Amino acid sequence: MAGKKKEHTLVSADTGQALQSGQKPPKPQMVAAPPVGNATSLRIGAVVLWVLAIVFEVLALLVVLGKLNFKFLPTMWQLILLIVLDLVCLIIGSQLWKKANHIKPASEKNPVKFWLWNNLGMIVAVVAFVPLIILILTSKDMDKKTKTIAAIVAVIALLIGGASGYDYNPVSQEQQQAAIEAIEGTVYWAPFGKVYHTHEDCGALNQSDKLTYGTVEQAIAANRTRLCSFCAKRDEISGVVTDDVDVKDYIPESTDAPQ
Ligand SMILES: [Zn+2]
Repeated sequence: MAGKKKEHTLVSADTGQALQSGQKPPKPQMVAAPPVGNATSLRIGAVVLWVLAIVFEVLALLVVLGKLNFKFLPTMWQLILLIVLDLVCLIIGSQLWKKANHIKPASEKNPVKFWLWNNLGMIVAVVAFVPLIILILTSKDMDKKTKTIAAIVAVIALLIGGASGYDYNPVSQEQQQAAIEAIEGTVYWAPFGKVYHTHEDCGALNQSDKLTYGTVEQAIAANRTRLCSFCAKRDEISGVVTDDVDVKDYIPESTDAPQ
């Protein structure tokens, strides 16, 4: 008894356009070149935003030291505004940086370097907030209320900024290379999750109405860093990072439905 085949709307990773039902996605060669060229500009954008974050921190330091005063706002609000601007630049910069690392990943040969490179945003967060926090706490010029509130806001910003700079789903150059070599065809991924599939009719995709298709590079750039373990078994692909989702209950339709 084969169930009704799940219909998916397929959306191109290149154009964002949906295919008509029944229409097959073009061969991977017809998909636009992998977005490797974008990594450098993303990194430049990240560094510019991080520098801007530090500039806002320096302005906040000058406010704490009494060397700078935007008279239209009380000191506390000046500090909060500068901390928020610092945080916004830091977060956007870190997202660009992480995106670049998923387009052109670093080698994992040196684990310390690999970790530092992937989580550089977290280190910038420390630089962007810790000196300010120390200066606020040791300031003798500010009143107690301003000091307390500014310090709390800066600590919260440090925590948010640090968490946003951490790469929860890192990928190495070696992993990316292995996946590219093992998987030649089109891959598919759902709107959420970290997994890509080599089969559109994979049972793990039954919950998804919309799928994106593209090359393995595009999947990894979209933060889908792992191959579905089902699809890996079905294609007998090894040596590629797969998910550990328990998919034992699923039997591919192609094996039980006579053609
Ligand atoms: Zn799958």
